[in-house]
Amino acid sequence: MTYCPFKRDNFHVIDETAGLYYVYSPGSITIERFENMANNIKRPNGTEDVLPKDVHKWYTIEKIARETAESYGFSEIRIPTFESTDLYMRSVGETTDVVQKEMYTVMAKETKFTLRPEGTAGTIRAMLQNGLLNEAMPQRVFYILSCFRHERPQAGRLREFHQFGIEMAGSSSPCADAEVISLAKTILEHLGIRNIELYINSIGCPDCRAKYHEALREFFGARRDELCETCRTRLEKNPMRILDCKSPVCSEIGKNAPIILDYLCDDCREHFEKLQSYLKTLGIEFRINPKIVRGLDYYTKTVFEFVTTEIGAQGTVCGGGRYDGLIEELGGQKTPALGFAMGIERLLLVMDKQGCDYLTPKKCDIYFAAMGDAALEKAMMLCKELREFGYRAEYDVVGRGLKAQMKYANKIGAEFTMVIGDNELNDGAAKLKEMESGKETLIRLDDKFSNNFDAIFIDKMLDSLDEAEAVKVFETAAQEYVHEHGHDCNCGCKEDGCNG
Ligand code: ATP
Ligand code: MG
Repeated sequence: MTYCPFKRDNFHVIDETAGLYYVYSPGSITIERFENMANNIKRPNGTEDVLPKDVHKWYTIEKIARETAESYGFSEIRIPTFESTDLYMRSVGETTDVVQKEMYTVMAKETKFTLRPEGTAGTIRAMLQNGLLNEAMPQRVFYILSCFRHERPQAGRLREFHQFGIEMAGSSSPCADAEVISLAKTILEHLGIRNIELYINSIGCPDCRAKYHEALREFFGARRDELCETCRTRLEKNPMRILDCKSPVCSEIGKNAPIILDYLCDDCREHFEKLQSYLKTLGIEFRINPKIVRGLDYYTKTVFEFVTTEIGAQGTVCGGGRYDGLIEELGGQKTPALGFAMGIERLLLVMDKQGCDYLTPKKCDIYFAAMGDAALEKAMMLCKELREFGYRAEYDVVGRGLKAQMKYANKIGAEFTMVIGDNELNDGAAKLKEMESGKETLIRLDDKFSNNFDAIFIDKMLDSLDEAEAVKVFETAAQEYVHEHGHDCNCGCKEDGCNG
């Protein structure tokens, strides 16, 4: 026997048949049957598989977020999946839900490591460790990464989830806050997401927050006994955290709590007002929501969220803000910074709900059905060439008969097929079949094969577009060409670099 999920002593595995085990309990001599767990391992609760049929949705979000961030001057950074636990204790904050309840921490050779619950702390650690903050400021980076939080799984709340996030270090100006908010908004727009509200707030600096903490202590202190146990400890250490408590009693009490905006110092108030005026200049609509405190302790001054009501309770698709004290807290020079993170799974929920467009999933462009070994070798070579052209080309790697090969080509939705056998090899030409229309074209199997296929493929694609779409395809291709190669043509257009 190889596996027994029953760890109790009175059970013994005695037989195994067709994926099932039989066990008996010696006391009562009953025989039980249960699933063979070893063959039936499921993914952990709160995690998701992204299947090939859905991966184009992820590509869409990643591509649009990446390109939009690049257009705002941000470059990608990649950081480790786990960091020393201390990093999150010092940045996210010891009294936050994330640190108190949600971190996946392991002890490895006497050091405590934690799977990243968010991206900012690791990114700032990497920027410090690699001297990025000594280079031209502001530094602008973005990341796409997985995060891990031990929360109660539900729609839009997972234990492993993914974030697209950005960080900008080196500007204390509210103009940077507006820039970062504008980037988040533009990404959401480029994704085609509608009906999303921007809420902003200021949670002040340590100076004004000290007075606010006092007011909160007084307010919540009067109802101390009604607060949950965690919030009672927060009362002393970090009373603002109580406003973020998910317990119904604490949030009900919190509804009448004093608001931070009444306690802002002159500098923080001016910053917040200037941000609002920049947002107006950029035509970005917003609402002030004094209840937003964010779940992570490192924030100062501006905090913001983009929220939708269309995906249920987990409607915050993007959260961010300024964290002017974090870099110093992590051992760097005092450097103002800010950023945001979007939950990719939540973006997908909204996009599915709103029927947003995704990039077209990749299908097979051409499938070669080969009969015989010589034909198979020809198919291999033609595929190799076409793949260099950027086509998705396949041939039979299973050794099936012709009929089964064609059935497979149909199943995978191949645009074109070509059958190659001895006759085609002898003639040096074979019929290219367009699967949708059934139209066939004879093409020579020579060194011009890929060019000829390319011409037929592009004709078919243009035929399927109306004139405006076709013009757009040409314009995009021309732009991409100029972007990659510069304008070095002979067309006589008098553009820079034109040799004509
Ligand atoms: P929430 O209030 O929904 O718990 P949060 O304040 O904990 O969010 P952040 O730490 O600011 O979230 O993370 C940024 C974004 O990451 C959130 O706005 C959300 O879109 C996404 N996110 C956070 N936690 C999860 C999770 N457990 N599952 C899926 N997405 C998440
Ligand atoms: Mg949370």
